[in-house]
Amino acid sequence: MRFSKSFVKTLRTAPKDETARGAQFLSRAGYVHKELAGIYDYLPLGLRVLENIKTIIREELDRIGCQEVLMSSLQNPEPWQKTDRWDIKKMDIWFKTALAAGGELGLAPTHEEPMTKMMQTYISSYKDLPVYVYQFQTKFRNELRAKSGIMRTREFLMKDLYSFATNEAEHEQFYHAAEQAYKRIYDRLGIGNDTFQTFASGGVFAKYSHEFQTLTDIGEDTIYYNADKSVVLNEEVLNDEVLAELGVKREELASAKAAEVGNIFTLKTKYSEPLGLVFNDQDGQRKTVLMGCYGIGVSRVMGVIAEKFCDDRGLVWPEQIAPYKYYLIGIGEEGSKQAEALYQGHEDQILYDDRNLRPGEKFADAELMGIPYRVVISDKTLADGKAEIVNRATGASELVDLQNIL
Ligand code: ATP
Ligand code: MG
Repeated sequence: MRFSKSFVKTLRTAPKDETARGAQFLSRAGYVHKELAGIYDYLPLGLRVLENIKTIIREELDRIGCQEVLMSSLQNPEPWQKTDRWDIKKMDIWFKTALAAGGELGLAPTHEEPMTKMMQTYISSYKDLPVYVYQFQTKFRNELRAKSGIMRTREFLMKDLYSFATNEAEHEQFYHAAEQAYKRIYDRLGIGNDTFQTFASGGVFAKYSHEFQTLTDIGEDTIYYNADKSVVLNEEVLNDEVLAELGVKREELASAKAAEVGNIFTLKTKYSEPLGLVFNDQDGQRKTVLMGCYGIGVSRVMGVIAEKFCDDRGLVWPEQIAPYKYYLIGIGEEGSKQAEALYQGHEDQILYDDRNLRPGEKFADAELMGIPYRVVISDKTLADGKAEIVNRATGASELVDLQNIL
C-alpha cells in the first residue's frame, strides 16, 4: 500500500466516547470508523486484519473437515416461531424489519434456526452424517449497551459452526476436535497463553458449555481459576455443587477480568427436534439429529488483540494478523529512490509511507499503526549499503544489507 494514495488518514484524536485504549488506537490509526455507538465501518487496514483472522480460523476448521457456506442475514420468522425464539420477550436483542409486500423478517442475531432448516434439505439418512458447516457472517443484535469499541457492537462478524451427528459418541468426537481446533486458532492469533477454556452454563441440554475467555482488564466477564489454571470457570457456574464436581475449593480460586472470544455448545436436539431435522438410521429407525454449535467473535477478537497488544504510542499487532509486515520509509533523495525500488513487487507486504512529511511524523504513524517492522532507508544507512529495521514489539534495531532485506 502506498500511503500517499490512501484515503484514510491517521487522526490526532479518537471519537469522544471511546474510552478503551485499543479502541482509541483503532480509530486514530485508521483501522475502523465509528458511525454510531456500537456501529463501525472497517477501513482498508482493518479489513486486512479481519481477513487475516478469518484465514487462521478457516484453515483450522477446514483441517477438521468443516465446510464453509454463507447464509443470508435476512431471516424467515417461521423456524424461529417453531423454536419459540421469535418473540422479543424470549430474545430481547432482535432487530426486525418488514417486507414491502407484507410480513416480517429478522436480521440475523445468530443462525441455529435457518441452518437447521436448511440442513433438512440435505440430511435424510445416516449416510449423510456427520457433517460440519460454518460461515463468517454478519450478526445484528440490539444490544442495550455497546462497549469497548468493536468488542461489543450491534453489528459484528461472527464465525458460527454447526455440527450434525447420528449419536452421542459421534457428537463428542467432533466436540473434542473443535476444542483442539479452537486452541490452535487462539495460539496462532497470538492470544493462546491468555485464553482459557472455561466451564460455563450449558442450559438444560448439557451439563456445561465451554467458553473461551481471554484475560483483559476491559473484559466484561469475571473468570475463576485454580493455581495451575487447570480448572477455569465462569461466574455463573460458581456454586458449591459445581465446585465439588470439578474438585476445587472456592478459596483456592483467584479471579480475573476476561472477554469471551468464543464458545462451544452441545445442543443435542434443542433445534433439530422442533424443526424436525431427522434421519433414517442404520437400524431402520427414524431419529433426530444431534447438534452442536461453535462460535467465535471475529471482530471482537480483533478488538481484544488491539487492547492487549498496545503501548502508549499505539498498536502492536502480532505479525500473523498485522495488515502489513513492513512499514517502509525512505529519507533523502537516494533513500527514497531505494525505498521505491524495494516497494516494487512487494506491494502486498509493505505499507510504503511515501507521503511528503517529516520523518518524525512517519515514525509516529508507524508506531500508532503497529506495523511489526519499520524499515528505514536513508543516506546514512546507505553509506554501508544497509537499511535499518526496527521491531515494533521489542524496539530492537538492526542494520541489514539492502540486497537481502526481505
Ligand atoms: P456475550 O456473552 O458476550 O453477549 P454471547 O454468549 O451472546 O456473547 P454468542 O451468541 O454465542 O455469544 O456469540 C458467539 C461469539 O460472538 C461470542 O463468543 C462473542 O465472542 C461474539 N459476540 C457476541 N455478541 C457480540 C457483540 N455484541 N459484539 C461483538 N461480538 C459479539
Ligand atoms: Mg456469553
